This record gives sequence, structure tokens and C-alpha cells, in this order.
Amino acid sequence: MNLIFLGAPGAGKGTVAAKLAEQTGLTPISTGDLFRAAVKNETDLGLKVKSIMEAGGLVPDELTIALVKERLASETDGKGVILDGFPRTIAQADALKTFFKIDAVINFIVPDEKIIKRLSGRRLCRQCNAGYHIEYMPPKTENVCDACGGELFTRKDDSPESIQNRLAVYAAQTQPLIDYYKKEGLLIDIDGTPQPDTVCESVRKAIGC
Ligand code: AMP
Repeated sequence: MNLIFLGAPGAGKGTVAAKLAEQTGLTPISTGDLFRAAVKNETDLGLKVKSIMEAGGLVPDELTIALVKERLASETDGKGVILDGFPRTIAQADALKTFFKIDAVINFIVPDEKIIKRLSGRRLCRQCNAGYHIEYMPPKTENVCDACGGELFTRKDDSPESIQNRLAVYAAQTQPLIDYYKKEGLLIDIDGTPQPDTVCESVRKAIGC
């Protein structure tokens, strides 16, 4: 089964994708993670997208589509994937249709006030990428990863200015995908406000797995 996780930044897509993947064996593919890895490794792609990402803008469609196409081509496991953060524009959705079959699109609904609180308190481990929140999921020791002892940091695009920009970009470019996939009969709305375990359970019920 191939899923798309749709929703504003901070709606919990990544957290729920990781849980669902653990429980079902689906492979989570996050374009944000792929781009962050490219930036970290200073590849040609990384150098092109670094400043766009830090400002909270969208990477150009042709670069994003090429990256996803290549990643999906190497996906041979067969169980299926969770696309987290792709597509984010109509052009990306149109392109995806030409090379990949999607079974359902999960739309995570979370009010803006909650999104802002989630993103501004978010912390990530520099070493193992584990996610925390200073209020909702604090590490045992401040700024230290429970899992590996790595240092925690705030993503540059979780700054207040970038958050506002990302929400505006989401409303303008990504929200139209809700109607797009509704028309295709693929959209499933999920309340993204409860704890991740509860949200994950709702997704499993909705897709019957
Ligand atoms: P995320 O981790 O999903 O919030 O993505 C972080 C950043 O990566 C976004 O703000 C964009 O700059 C870039 N990005 C991720 N996915 C896409 C996409 N599908 N299209 C364009 N840019 C993307």
C-alpha cells in the first residue's frame, strides 16, 4: 500500500510516519529528510537548496520530482511507502501520477496556533535525528538526546519568520492538493491534534491495516 501524508509543516506527518512504518513495515520517505541529508553532505543538490530551505520556501519542482523519482525507483521492498512531505504542489502531484500509484492520501488536520507551538518548541538530535519537544516531549536531560546522547538543536526553518513563511507557502501551494485528491477519491481526513500514538491508530483504522 502506498500512502501520501499531507498536512501543514508541524502537523505530525514525520512522527506518525515513523510509528506507522514501525508497525506495518511500510517505508517512510521524507523529502525534507532527503534534502537535509543533501545539505549536510554538501552535495550539488544540497548547495542548491540550502538557502531556500532555511527561508522556509519550496525547492523547485523539477529538482524535487527528480529526487523522488530516483528514490522510488530504488524502492524494491514491495510492501509500500509513506510519502511524507511530497507532493507539495499540483505540478508535483501531476508528475507523481505518471510514475507511481497511490492508494490513499492522509490529510492531517491541525489548527495553526497548535502548529506554531509545535514547530517553535521542536528539537532534533544532531546525531540520530530523533525528535523532541521542549514542552510535549522533553528529553530527560536538557538539550541531550535520550537515545544516543547527541546534542539537540533547533532547525533553522523552525525560526518564527520561517514558520510564518512555511505556513503561507503551505496555504498557497499545498492546500489545493486537498481538493485535488478529494476529486480523485483518495483523501482521508484525520484529526492530527491528539498524541501521535492515537493519531497513528486512527490512520491504521482508516486504511484498514
Ligand atoms: P519538511 O521536513 O517536510 O518540513 O521539509 C523541509 C523543507 O524541505 C521544506 O520547507 C522545503 O524547503 C523542502 N521540501 C521538502 N519537501 C518538499 C517538496 N515536496 N517540494 C518542495 N520543497 C520541499
